[in-house]
Amino acid sequence: MKFKNFPIYRIEWVTSSFLIGTALLSLTVVPWFLWTQFDNVEGWGFIWALFIFYYYATGFGITLGYHRLFSHLSFKAKWPVKLFVLLFGAASFENSALDWSADHRIHHKHVDEDEDPYDISKGFFYAHIGWLLFRLKPKPPVTNVKDLEADPLVMWQHKYVQWIGLFVGFVTPAILGWAYATARGFANPGMTALACFLIAGLLRTVVVQQGTFCINSLCHMFGRQPYSTNHSARDSGAVALLTFGEGYHNYHHEFQHDYRNGVKPWQFDPTKWIIWTLSRVGLVQDLRRVPDSRIMAAELKEKSLTLGKDIDSLANRLDARTRELKAKTIATAHELAKELALRAEGLKEAATNKAEVAQETMVELRALLNQAAGHLEALRRADAGSAA
Ligand SMILES: [Zn+2]
Ligand SMILES: [Zn+2]
Repeated sequence: MKFKNFPIYRIEWVTSSFLIGTALLSLTVVPWFLWTQFDNVEGWGFIWALFIFYYYATGFGITLGYHRLFSHLSFKAKWPVKLFVLLFGAASFENSALDWSADHRIHHKHVDEDEDPYDISKGFFYAHIGWLLFRLKPKPPVTNVKDLEADPLVMWQHKYVQWIGLFVGFVTPAILGWAYATARGFANPGMTALACFLIAGLLRTVVVQQGTFCINSLCHMFGRQPYSTNHSARDSGAVALLTFGEGYHNYHHEFQHDYRNGVKPWQFDPTKWIIWTLSRVGLVQDLRRVPDSRIMAAELKEKSLTLGKDIDSLANRLDARTRELKAKTIATAHELAKELALRAEGLKEAATNKAEVAQETMVELRALLNQAAGHLEALRRADAGSAA
């Protein structure tokens, strides 16, 4: 885009000022305050504890509330949970749950297409934050959140979201800091209040926002695609660490109504753990899970496609002699790719007919996937050997 053609009239001035302003203040005023005023402020233990509480509360407001509850309806929640995520979701300053969900549902429906609000094919910067700073096109009318429009609590938050955000996200930390300092008899409660505002309010807002933005940028660019290569979404354990488990984005785009994003037991998905725990105490219910057999079918199908392609490209790189030596591995791998495709079909059919798949079959299929990985590894080693 040439600068002289830059659509100045499409800049979102309020959003841009807020996003750029809070980021700049966090990078300048916050370190300056820590550097020069550290000894003048009492109650640092309380201030950092408040930061951590707000980081998790507003983070879960987005991941558990805006994303998995409102955008994807992956479980049902009682009003105290809804109220909590609406209050703290507002305090993350990512717009109302209604607007967020409307954009996000379009993102899933039209991923990587022009209609996708944070379309990665328009570049990393655009998908990360550019789409919020300026609009390439006028915003389409909101038509895909009728279910949420019927929820009075969601509509109340939508109407007052900026006020709720300011009060819960910025004013409350300052009040809490002031109350704590007064109760403890500190000499200067105003300084503790200011520190709470800067750390638990301002800095925390920027950290949580950047985490969310990473899903739309990093998780559509870097990482693994074990479930599908039909879209740009990728699984990234590193991003999951920053985003309360939302980094397993390849799985999520394939199975968007599952309340889990990190579906494997070893994957870091605290949002899933909280939803599950809340279901144990009756605060949420009807958790939606994709059956293991359907997940396995997706993995088998994807592996059969990539195995075939990877084997061919690796085989082509080998010198003639190594290729001859490895002819058997290549042929077996191709056979295996065909078998994986067949087994994927079988599983899909079983899932459609709601037929039970035996645990032993699942173990056997997992072993086939490992075998495929083994063949690829053997060829990679041969390739490295022939190149040496
Ligand atoms: Zn996505
Ligand atoms: Zn989603």
